[in-house]
Amino acid sequence: MIIGVLSLQGGVDEHIAALEACDASTRKVRLPRDLEGIDGIVIPGGESTVIDKLARAFDVAKPLAALIDAGLPALATCAGLIYVAKHVDNPAPGQQTLGVVDAGVRRNAFGSQRESFDTTVDVAWHGASMEGVKASFIRAPIVTEFGVGVEAIAVLKSGEVVGMRQGNIVALSFHPEETGDFRIHNAWLELVREHAELGI
Ligand code: GLN
Repeated sequence: MIIGVLSLQGGVDEHIAALEACDASTRKVRLPRDLEGIDGIVIPGGESTVIDKLARAFDVAKPLAALIDAGLPALATCAGLIYVAKHVDNPAPGQQTLGVVDAGVRRNAFGSQRESFDTTVDVAWHGASMEGVKASFIRAPIVTEFGVGVEAIAVLKSGEVVGMRQGNIVALSFHPEETGDFRIHNAWLELVREHAELGI
């Protein structure tokens, strides 16, 4: 199994380290040809506007969206969560997204006081349940709208929805790759394995 990591900008190396700690083989994805034969894709945090611009410049945005639409498992974190959503409440001028999750998100949703903070959060989706996951929030987005088929998988005690899943796509507002707690990566890799075994 090969896990692609979208390597245009942001927390690429941290995700690769987390995946390798879970015994997964990884490949950096920058160009359309890098997508060939991957079993899953991780879209790291960073700056969603920069990821968008580079993905379009490298012509990787459209083929990546098509693969995810066709069922390729995806794990998107922070800027990645913004990048997979169909709607951004407060986009930068000209900002585009892959639009593969029928949801709305708000960028930089935590006020300046809480722009960056570490906390723990319970994360659960069908077949996975993780309590007290260590989570690092860095100018993080939240989920504000859910289409049919999108479930909230992580909610802060203060009420903000910080994780969503739509079928093959798991998206989180925070950075699970920076804390040494790799339960999220492990649980998502289970999804990838199931998907690969089904051969779809
Ligand atoms: N604020 C960033 C954005 O809009 C996301 C921050 C992050 O990925 N840590 O893309």
